[in-house]
Amino acid sequence: MKVSALELLSGYRAQQQAIDSAVMSVLSSGYYIGGPVLESFERQFAAYCNAKFCVGVANGLDALHLALRGLGIGPGDEIITASNSYIATLLAISAVGARPVLVEPDAGTFALDPEKVLPAVTDRTRAILPTHLFGHPADLGPLRTICDRYSLFLVEDAAQAHGARYKGERVGSHGDAVCWSFYPTKNLGAYGDGGAVTTNNEELAASIRMLGNYGQSSRYHNDVRGTNSRLDPLQAAVLAVKLERLDEANGGRRRIAERYSAALANSRLTLPVEREWATSVWHQFVVRHADRDAFQAALLERGVQTLIHYPIPPHLQPAYRDLNLEVGKFPIAEKIAATCLSLPIWAEMTDETVEAVISAVLEADRAVAQ
Ligand SMILES: *Cc1c(COP(=O)(O)O)cnc(C)c1O
Repeated sequence: MKVSALELLSGYRAQQQAIDSAVMSVLSSGYYIGGPVLESFERQFAAYCNAKFCVGVANGLDALHLALRGLGIGPGDEIITASNSYIATLLAISAVGARPVLVEPDAGTFALDPEKVLPAVTDRTRAILPTHLFGHPADLGPLRTICDRYSLFLVEDAAQAHGARYKGERVGSHGDAVCWSFYPTKNLGAYGDGGAVTTNNEELAASIRMLGNYGQSSRYHNDVRGTNSRLDPLQAAVLAVKLERLDEANGGRRRIAERYSAALANSRLTLPVEREWATSVWHQFVVRHADRDAFQAALLERGVQTLIHYPIPPHLQPAYRDLNLEVGKFPIAEKIAATCLSLPIWAEMTDETVEAVISAVLEADRAVAQ
């Protein structure tokens, strides 16, 4: 049996009729930018996140970038983020001219470790930017406390965490701004690019909306030099349909994660954890293996395709050479990058496929040990 790392078509098939009809109704509405379908999705998603406002933007990177800009963060400012985050988190910081200050993650949850954040705060720090990597929320309580104490903004990269909960409450309004991506592979994915910012701050929401619409305060009145970054109604229509099923889909991922965790408990793999204060949405099921490359090859020989999220930590990317952060500077992030492997997981994965992955993993683990 061949198993691919990810299968997107099954998600479409699960709601095909509703998605097709939502798309057709946008096509025949005559509204292709903005309009009621977009506004309705923004209201629905804000309500889902327990946030007062949601502003659709073109993608997740723009969500982060415009949130930081909307908060007035710019050159000379520092933003603390995790040394193992996805590159987009850092790119957003760079895009506003601020400096990313990297702090090591908790190796168990892969999320920013609040204990290590405090020593990184300087008088230039303006924000803390945790990423809820792989669907597991960062420890938001202690991060909020640090933000309140030093008057910093808390900006969350929630691109992998639609529906995740922190202490029982959905992610989406803990931070000053919560940034979302609707890239097709995300738990709530569009059929193209899309993103959003949720917030309880009305002024910030208005500012992000203005920045994403050329900096117009009203038509042809440009207050600031904005950009063009909008979520279009075709994607919003798809997202509204998929939002209805998001909890069910996340439940499907959870059952698979639980099955993997139980079946692989006695293997040599380090399994992902879920802290008692967290409800992960299992965007990825990331295991760690000391001999990762050989293990991945052995899995592929057995028909199971896997991905590595992510093979090179941001501080070792040529794009960030100017930070002058050499090998060995962030050992936890480097070790994660060298040993992590994402097992196949998607909401509609059949039991048969899950069992095939488990058999292949157990066999590959034994084969590599020899
Ligand atoms: C996907 C992702 C982004 C960027 O989202 P795009 O919509 O692809 O721009 C940012 N941060 C994280 C953690 C992501 O997973």
